[in-house]
Amino acid sequence: MESYDIIIRNGSILTMDADNSVIEDGRVYINGDTIVRVGHCGDEASDAKKTIDAQGGLILPGLINGHTHAAMSLFRGLADDLPLMEWLNHYIFPAEKRIDARFVYTGTLLACAEMILSGATTFCDMYLFEDQTAEAASRAGMRCLAGEVLYDFPSPNYGDPENGLAYTEFLIRKWEHHPLISIAVEPHSLFTCSPDLLIRANQIASDHHLPLIIHVAETLPEVMEIKERYGKTPVEHLESLGLLGPSLIMDHAVHLDTWDMDQIAEHGVKVIHNPESNMKLASGIAPIPELLNRGVTVGIGTDGCASNNNLDLFTEMDMAAKLHKARAMDPTVMDAVTVLRMATIEGARALGLQDLIGSIETGKKADIIIVETNRPHLTPMYNPFSHLVYAARGSDVSHVVINGRLVMAHGKLLTMDLEEIMGHARESSMQVREWVSNG
Ligand SMILES: [Zn+2]
Repeated sequence: MESYDIIIRNGSILTMDADNSVIEDGRVYINGDTIVRVGHCGDEASDAKKTIDAQGGLILPGLINGHTHAAMSLFRGLADDLPLMEWLNHYIFPAEKRIDARFVYTGTLLACAEMILSGATTFCDMYLFEDQTAEAASRAGMRCLAGEVLYDFPSPNYGDPENGLAYTEFLIRKWEHHPLISIAVEPHSLFTCSPDLLIRANQIASDHHLPLIIHVAETLPEVMEIKERYGKTPVEHLESLGLLGPSLIMDHAVHLDTWDMDQIAEHGVKVIHNPESNMKLASGIAPIPELLNRGVTVGIGTDGCASNNNLDLFTEMDMAAKLHKARAMDPTVMDAVTVLRMATIEGARALGLQDLIGSIETGKKADIIIVETNRPHLTPMYNPFSHLVYAARGSDVSHVVINGRLVMAHGKLLTMDLEEIMGHARESSMQVREWVSNG
């Protein structure tokens, strides 16, 4: 009899492979960190150290949050419904210039708890003190693509802007062989980074074969500022610096003209769509259907918690599907399968992790979630893709396996003490109140 570390049984497997195959009453066999077989119930006798019963629910790849500032979970609800510059200048910036390593570790653990509980297994983060982000993700047992935010002004982490690239190289060395953590190079944006910094950041990314990740064309004022400074659109500016290429990941990409979209497609640039943040900050609506029509790889992200205000990819998928239908006045755009692919295999492709994660296929890392469907809002079920995008919530996730390790079972986190994490988060909020009231 064959023996495995984990068998997940008694559920419909949404493989998210090239054909979006669904295996009714399927079984996933895991050894170590890897999916070694995907099959049907009734396969030959087999034995496992641990058997997980999906109880007739849905078994799918872990969701991929393509853009976060995880530690901002500690700023959630601090200030909302304000004009962008007032929000930034009076609340976020005064607080951010005082944050420290402990704050980022606490905030990221809290974010990881929320993400795992709502079915995310990977997140791609940009923030300060990213070594602490990586430490927290590692403790939580989550997969993370982390990068220190780089810009032209001093950072509370690395001090002088000159030190930012050295800090990035330290991250690359430190986390090189970690099974869950990988590093990206992450200049903040075109309006906070000089051409010189952008070129040097790109050089480090290409020397180490790492993604280069940057916020691009998020707001109209940004586009106007770049046009004023350089006489170019943000995408033109990137093109003139030689930064367009398949390892460039653009967060947002809201305000694009036809030439910009053609360039993104032609150069194989990846895009992460953050619909709820774009709605809440009134940034606009990214032309995602137009990018998909050009064959661009698009993932989905929540952005930071202060501009969303949650890290639940189920609500993000729902919004993504509906927002574009309303904009186009066409209910056929952004169908459920397309949107679920953005949160799984296309998200993996956007981050350059498609060989490891994003689908349930033999040889891939075992990042798998179970969605419980024995609930009124998911009964009856005609089409699992429809239910996942339009009806399910993060709280319907019952089990999460990351890299072959069960990190959540029956809705309970196994890697962390949730009460302790929330206690630390409440303590940090006292500090945040002080920072903001002192300006
Ligand atoms: Zn962002």
